[in-house]
Amino acid sequence: MAIGEPEGGDRYSRQSRFWGIGAAGQQRIRAGHVVVIGCGALGSAGVNLLARAGVGRITIVDRDFVELSNLQRQLLFDEADAAAGLPKAVAAARAVARINSEVEVRPFVADVTPANVEELVAAADVVLDGTDNFETRYLVNDACVKRGVPWVYGGAVGSTGMSMTIVPGETACFRCLFPAPPPVGSMETCETAGVLAAGIVTVAAIQCAEVLKLLVGDRENRSRGLTAVDVWTNDHLQAEGRLRDPDCPCCGQRRFEYLDTVATSRTASLCGRDAIQVSPGQAQALDLGDLGRKLEVTGPVTVNDYLVRCRVDGHEMTVFADGRAIIKGTTDLAVARSLYARYVGT
Ligand SMILES: [Zn+2]
Repeated sequence: MAIGEPEGGDRYSRQSRFWGIGAAGQQRIRAGHVVVIGCGALGSAGVNLLARAGVGRITIVDRDFVELSNLQRQLLFDEADAAAGLPKAVAAARAVARINSEVEVRPFVADVTPANVEELVAAADVVLDGTDNFETRYLVNDACVKRGVPWVYGGAVGSTGMSMTIVPGETACFRCLFPAPPPVGSMETCETAGVLAAGIVTVAAIQCAEVLKLLVGDRENRSRGLTAVDVWTNDHLQAEGRLRDPDCPCCGQRRFEYLDTVATSRTASLCGRDAIQVSPGQAQALDLGDLGRKLEVTGPVTVNDYLVRCRVDGHEMTVFADGRAIIKGTTDLAVARSLYARYVGT
């Protein structure tokens, strides 16, 4: 700090003094809207950085709730959030309000589906990937390429992580790089390989720097390929060159196969969790109080503004207002579907 400058007069002074941002860049960051899809480990580290950087609007989309086992790596949450069973989007929004009350933050407790993804990304200047699965990333990629919205991919497992900045019409898209999802069971997951918070936070930091470059319009310094890091072995890889595939179904041929999938009732196992999510085909608007009273026959029931939780047949079942349920203690899709049908309905 130069002599004579007031201390703390501007909360962003250290950032706007940085050559890549400046006062004009800070204004753009403030005018920016970032939609964060998935608020687990990557998403919560990202939201934390973006809120502190002064991004004007942050929309946080997440389908899950906070648990004690998240706290090792999910930087926005604490023991009180886990005890209250708060949805991650809601707990994250409350944390943002404490970190930076200037940020207009909007939590959205939902699964990202073909039915809602386009509307979600269309409102964004930049989309930040905090998801933990390929299916959602393909969906986000389709929606972002179709709507011309840049997004920053991120993923981490073990001590490694990857990031890529995708600018429709300019760079390769996610599908240019990964034309098809990996075969089921072929990839390490956080469940099989574990995950280091340090690896996640490194990737989140790279992603957030890319988000800021996109918001301030620094085209020259943006990452031009896939960045991979391993915080344990200290390997770094920057893959550049001809990544864009002219035959890519998404950005080459503009066939949005994931977006055009008709939303149907579906089940999905959750990464890093001994749990299954069951979703109705279309979002519902459940009366949680009513459902809670019905479920009292099963034993003690927890109800808050966002969810109902009970134990059925030895499994913890959490039902959200949009009709989704997360059933813990099983990786069997059929078991989860059957419990859902019996206790919530089809
Ligand atoms: Zn492509």
